[in-house]
Amino acid sequence: MEKKEFQAESKRLLDLMINSIYSQKEVFLRELISNASDAIDKVYYKTLTDDTLTFNRGDYFIKIAANKDANTLTISDTGIGMTKEDLEENLGTIAKSGSLAFKDETEMEEDFDIIGQFGVGFYAAFMVADTVTVKSKAFGQDEAYEWTSEGADGYTIHPTEKETVGTEITLSIKEDTEEESYSEFLDEFRIQEVIKKYSDFIRYPIKMDVTKSEPKEDNEEEFVEFVEEETINSMVPIWKKNKSELTDEDYVNFYKEKHYGFDEPIKHIHTSVDGNIRYDAILYIPATMPFDYYSTEYEKGLELYSNGVLIMNKAPELLPDYFSFVKGMVDSEDLSLNISREMLQHDRQLKMIEKNITRKIKTELQNMLKNDRETYVTFYEVFGRQLKYGVYSDFGQHKDVLQDLLMFYSSKEQKLVSLAEYVERMPEDQKHIYYATGESNERIAKLPQTEMVTDKGYEILYFTEDVDEFAIRMLVNYQEKEFKNVSDGDLGLETEEEKQEAEKEAADHEELFAKMKEVLADKVQDVKASKRLRSHPVCFSTEGEVSIEMEKVMQQMPDGQGVKAQKALEINVDHEVFTALKNAFETDEEKLALYTNLLYNQAVLIEGLPIGDPVEFTNDICKVMV
Ligand code: ADP
Repeated sequence: MEKKEFQAESKRLLDLMINSIYSQKEVFLRELISNASDAIDKVYYKTLTDDTLTFNRGDYFIKIAANKDANTLTISDTGIGMTKEDLEENLGTIAKSGSLAFKDETEMEEDFDIIGQFGVGFYAAFMVADTVTVKSKAFGQDEAYEWTSEGADGYTIHPTEKETVGTEITLSIKEDTEEESYSEFLDEFRIQEVIKKYSDFIRYPIKMDVTKSEPKEDNEEEFVEFVEEETINSMVPIWKKNKSELTDEDYVNFYKEKHYGFDEPIKHIHTSVDGNIRYDAILYIPATMPFDYYSTEYEKGLELYSNGVLIMNKAPELLPDYFSFVKGMVDSEDLSLNISREMLQHDRQLKMIEKNITRKIKTELQNMLKNDRETYVTFYEVFGRQLKYGVYSDFGQHKDVLQDLLMFYSSKEQKLVSLAEYVERMPEDQKHIYYATGESNERIAKLPQTEMVTDKGYEILYFTEDVDEFAIRMLVNYQEKEFKNVSDGDLGLETEEEKQEAEKEAADHEELFAKMKEVLADKVQDVKASKRLRSHPVCFSTEGEVSIEMEKVMQQMPDGQGVKAQKALEINVDHEVFTALKNAFETDEEKLALYTNLLYNQAVLIEGLPIGDPVEFTNDICKVMV
């Protein structure tokens, strides 16, 4: 029979499985049982939505059979089965292609925790088996097919006989080696243990022949052994269980069983609501960002069940975009089984559930910030940016929900602080919430514009992400305190006296500044004496809506090229350099132009903006040196 090759990526994954040094080999059973349960879900769903079909609870089960003599373990189900094409497509290629592609070879080799990273489904069988045979008869079909593979060099498919609809997977268990025991997976106690650990909540019975013994009738001292079929799992879905009966480990196992993520979630939220609308939900906040989170590939959503029956893998309607990282499921009796994707968007019940869930997530995060700050900071470092996008998007509609979840690095505390904490610490005379933008905290700390605010003893929030200032502009203010960029033309810091003095100074140097403005032409809006500088000679300030940081961000966008901040060049009149400027103004026009251009370019450099003409700039420096 012709052997077919696995698709390249599957082959790579298979190789990894076969040579796996993964310590938790037992999860192969979880993966196969989970697939079996999904397959039964599919037929069950059909019988519920098609009047011509009848449903008989007893017909749906998963059976595990170990045969020590033949060295085989068989997992069979009465699910939807697979056609020849399904076998080819589902088992010959891996659905999660891409997840491996982005890992380079070196990463793969150094005992890379593939299962921990992605979960592997069916192929996990190859961790414990050297041959895997899948016999399947699909729902509504007469023929059955058998798929067999001994590993990475390929698989065969041929017609076979199978009476009932469903799938039967037979694993030829590997020989034990010095380091590894495989035969334990033929041991009925060990198998039961694994089922209990990972698959207890599966809604269909997982049956197995179990050896039992009872005292002999005529002699109570002696026992007789007999074999009886038993259901190993409790079958109560985890979300229907009493929270007090469940351990953290149960929730983590459920998360993994469901492939919600392959990390350890940092939080689970189990909520049951019984009122106008009834539902149970288990939600998770993952610890790490999915590799495709910021790509178009990423789909948000929760699993949706109608009275215990899975009706959708990812219902995006259940989560707002700003909480798109949340994973989990919702089960509601109030939803119709026949609901279509299109209908979901308009479903009133679903909207109510979404609203409730959103509120719940927000409250839980807020509590985490209050009571378990360390975990919150871990979360925020991974997903904070998404919250900030949330503030900015949809014209700021969600800012009220999100503003209390925001954190920024504080000049004073040298760590992330919330807006509430900032405002609470504000001295009485401080009018605004000050922030400064830049590439990194270190660079911001050195910005000349921060000097005056820092001198006043005020705290500054450091914005290092593109989205930060856009989000804050959307908020405008927090607890009635307006946000102020330290580069803003008017910082609202001077007293009346200081203002008058500045005006007088401006008048004194009016001609000099006018000359400088002439040299710089339309590069700046204005040249003026600075009120904010202490030790630095020069900086930019901005007027109007667009800050320099925003200009930088907009320049990266296809249609943002024309957006420019309105800059004023501020000169520190108390700095020695100013004396040099004044002298040049009085004696040497060319020198004044040279100095002006140099100072302008210094301000450009401080902001991290590109120098317009680097060659001219270096020539200018040389002129000063000789
Ligand atoms: P995943 O379950 O994550 O999609 P798997 O590699 O475990 O990935 O399985 C691939 C596909 O093979 C499944 O999506 C399903 O369509 C099919 N499949 C696997 N096991 C069974 C089964 N027991 N019955 C029916 N279909 C199955």
